[in-house]
Amino acid sequence: MNNTIEIQITKTASSKLPQTDFDNLTFGHALSDHLFVADYFQGEWHNPRIEPYAPLSLNPANATLHYGQSVFEGLKAYKNEAGEVLVFRPDANFRRLNESAKRMCIPEVPEELFMDGLAKLLELDREWVPSKPGCSLYIRPFVFATDDFLGIRPSQKYKFMILTSPVGQYYAKPVAVKVETHFSRAIEGGTGYAKAAGNYAGSLYPAMCAQKEGYDQLLWTDGKTHQHIEESGTMNVMFVINGTLITAPTTTGTILKGITRDSVLTLAKEMDMPVQERFLSVSELKEALENGTMQEAFGTGTAATIAHIRLIHIDGNDYSLPEKPRDAFSNRVLHKLDAIKYGKEKDPYGWVY
Ligand code: PMP
Repeated sequence: MNNTIEIQITKTASSKLPQTDFDNLTFGHALSDHLFVADYFQGEWHNPRIEPYAPLSLNPANATLHYGQSVFEGLKAYKNEAGEVLVFRPDANFRRLNESAKRMCIPEVPEELFMDGLAKLLELDREWVPSKPGCSLYIRPFVFATDDFLGIRPSQKYKFMILTSPVGQYYAKPVAVKVETHFSRAIEGGTGYAKAAGNYAGSLYPAMCAQKEGYDQLLWTDGKTHQHIEESGTMNVMFVINGTLITAPTTTGTILKGITRDSVLTLAKEMDMPVQERFLSVSELKEALENGTMQEAFGTGTAATIAHIRLIHIDGNDYSLPEKPRDAFSNRVLHKLDAIKYGKEKDPYGWVY
């Protein structure tokens, strides 16, 4: 970061900290006292500021409400034992936000706006970063169109905001997933690689159907043939088959380039774990589950870090996975990643800010 920007700060008159139960945090309910805001109009970002968290007033013709021109990010801050606030790979989230923005015709956010805005917000709301093990402050930067106009065109006005929310563990228990071979999340040439609001809206109905059948999440297959595994609801997915870690490549534009995914792949190399970035076909997945060569399956993502998969449903059949021993790769890599995030272990990759 070369330049720093001037950020106007208005503090809340009544903090919500006393009413917040830090011993029973669930994902996404508690919202911290302040938010960072900047406005885009006349081709530039203006007026970076921190304000008390408050509802927005929106014109019913707001472009985001109708056409979904909106992108977001998700990252986390942790407290180390000395009480310092550490943020995991915000530079990667900054870059991905702008990749998503570009795809959705949203103007890019300058690096200093993202990084300085985040740093100032965390400085002000540092008491909102939980210190309990396994807990963290979830950070949600987002950009959305604010034109009040019903024609379809890229909006001329936007808001960039960062809000934060103290969270507990996302999936405490291993999950059951269903391989989806009818609905699609993304297709080549589409918006799958972008963290765009509409991608998530479109995935709700298929995920709800799977939940009604008793599964926690879907394993998405490719939109064209439904023959290979892409990713899960809000996670990339990885498999350990015969001692090799296999995960889908992110070169087709259909899969979100997960930052946890990238971190796990980097650590896997350090841990001498053989890695293959290639598509796993549904039939290969089925075979590995049937013949017992499937050792581990897990999702990777900011919310859960590592979510163990206990059951996979394919074509009318449920396949259970064996319990993971403590020395399973997914447990070892989770331990390593957590140690880096919480500042307990050296960070040779420059991931922690
Ligand atoms: N895939 C999708 C569709 C997601 O929403 C997420 C969560 N951002 C991920 C994968 C995992 O990405 P990350 O590790 O950066 O959180």
